[in-house]
Amino acid sequence: MPTSYETVIGLEAHVQLSTESKAFCADRNRFGNDPNRNVSEVSLGYPGTLPMLNEQQVRFAVKLGLALGCKINPRSTFDRKNYFYADLPKGYQITQDESPICIGGKLPLRLIAGPTDGTPQPVTPNRSVSLHHIHMEEDAGKSIHAAGEPYTKVDLNRAGTPLLEVVTDPDLRSAEEVDAFMTGMRRLVRWLDVSDGNMQEGSLRCDVNVSVRPEGQEEFGTRCEIKNMNSMKFARQAVAFEVERQIGILESGGKVRQQTRQFDPATASTSALRDKEDAHDYRYFPDPDLPPVLISPAFINGVKAEIDVLPWEAFAQLQNDFQLPAGDASLLTEDRITYETFLIYAAVSPSVRDLAKLWLNRLGPWLTEEGISANELSLNPEQVAAFQELIINGEVASAAATSKLLPSLLGDPGDPYNRAESLSLLQNTDTDFLAGLVDEVIAEFPDKVAAYRKGKKGLIGFFMGEVMKRSNGSAGPKETRELLEERL
Ligand code: ADP
Ligand code: MG
Repeated sequence: MPTSYETVIGLEAHVQLSTESKAFCADRNRFGNDPNRNVSEVSLGYPGTLPMLNEQQVRFAVKLGLALGCKINPRSTFDRKNYFYADLPKGYQITQDESPICIGGKLPLRLIAGPTDGTPQPVTPNRSVSLHHIHMEEDAGKSIHAAGEPYTKVDLNRAGTPLLEVVTDPDLRSAEEVDAFMTGMRRLVRWLDVSDGNMQEGSLRCDVNVSVRPEGQEEFGTRCEIKNMNSMKFARQAVAFEVERQIGILESGGKVRQQTRQFDPATASTSALRDKEDAHDYRYFPDPDLPPVLISPAFINGVKAEIDVLPWEAFAQLQNDFQLPAGDASLLTEDRITYETFLIYAAVSPSVRDLAKLWLNRLGPWLTEEGISANELSLNPEQVAAFQELIINGEVASAAATSKLLPSLLGDPGDPYNRAESLSLLQNTDTDFLAGLVDEVIAEFPDKVAAYRKGKKGLIGFFMGEVMKRSNGSAGPKETRELLEERL
């Protein structure tokens, strides 16, 4: 009987913090500047220089930790992780090995509004991933292996930029959950304004530890770590490949070797980089240049005061207070500005469910096209509410409202009723006016009238169209139909 296997995954997610300066010196912390501009003696690793801790980094670490329900360590310490690389001029990385700043915690997973293909995908309700800890560390520089050049270039702008490493328990069970976790993490760090969460630029990336075990087995299998995934699509492919590979080894009677592996996007496969190093290979030891980080309850309370609602709370609120579908609520809490702005518009809206649709289908795309954020929408909340009223009251046909009135208002904001009038979009419900047109049409098409009366009821559409034409599209459809049916 074939064995079925369970996938077990633990992540080490790296969040690059958007502090003004680097982790241990005053160099600018900026992506995309000319190479080796944001450097100094400290980030170049000159002998005799000393690191000094960036308070903003600690503040951001505590903020993320509190949002994730971690215990904040009142006393955490820095260690040196020793290894040689051309982009690590000091010969060691400052990190927290023994005593990290945040312990435990968990990230709730939710519907993901498909970052890869746009379709919302369900994650088990109330599923959350438990965290082992979060530690502070610094990033290395970047080696650039340019094609065709016989040498490697080094850019040290990134050397010493502040990172948080969020280490999960081996708690994830599929590539979809990896996607949901990273999507949730990206949303959270942006929400808290501690990182731009940009995966393409490497501000958010993760090492994915994958193992498999026969269904029902308690003990975990041997894992492989796939380094540096900075795309959700690649992470999914890497997990899929790795699971297949490991099952293949076990099925043929072999043993999985604990390894560090890399992913090749061209072939969607992973290959061995090195056998997994152990902690002692790095000769971790306490960094004598940095005193312990002591965090007081007052500091924690100060940071707490900066966090109000969290993204998953906002998501639940939109569902509960306005009965929005999960997909809509998810998209509207994708970022904080959208969520906060939406609430302001919802407060005066005659129908919040319709407002959500309008926002997601029309207003949001318009904002994207204009390249502006939600709080810069040209129409104010009262104008959007008045626009909705026109449709709800039948004063403007819904199709004409979205295809003609709304674009006009977005480009040149104004009172929706007046604009509808000047664009001749107001529906005419005046019975005398409509009856006149109906009589005209009936007189003009005696054959069609006869056919209708003989039972060709489908002709009602033809008569409606004729009345519409004569009213320049303004005839109220409900009233027109009633009059036509009466006179025919
Ligand atoms: P190390 O300190 O050697 O890097 P850790 O125990 O700290 O190892 O784990 C690193 C990451 O690997 C964590 O995210 C953890 O959840 C994950 N992990 C540990 N064991 C397994 C396993 N058997 N399968 C999958 N992931 C694992
Ligand atoms: Mg590790």
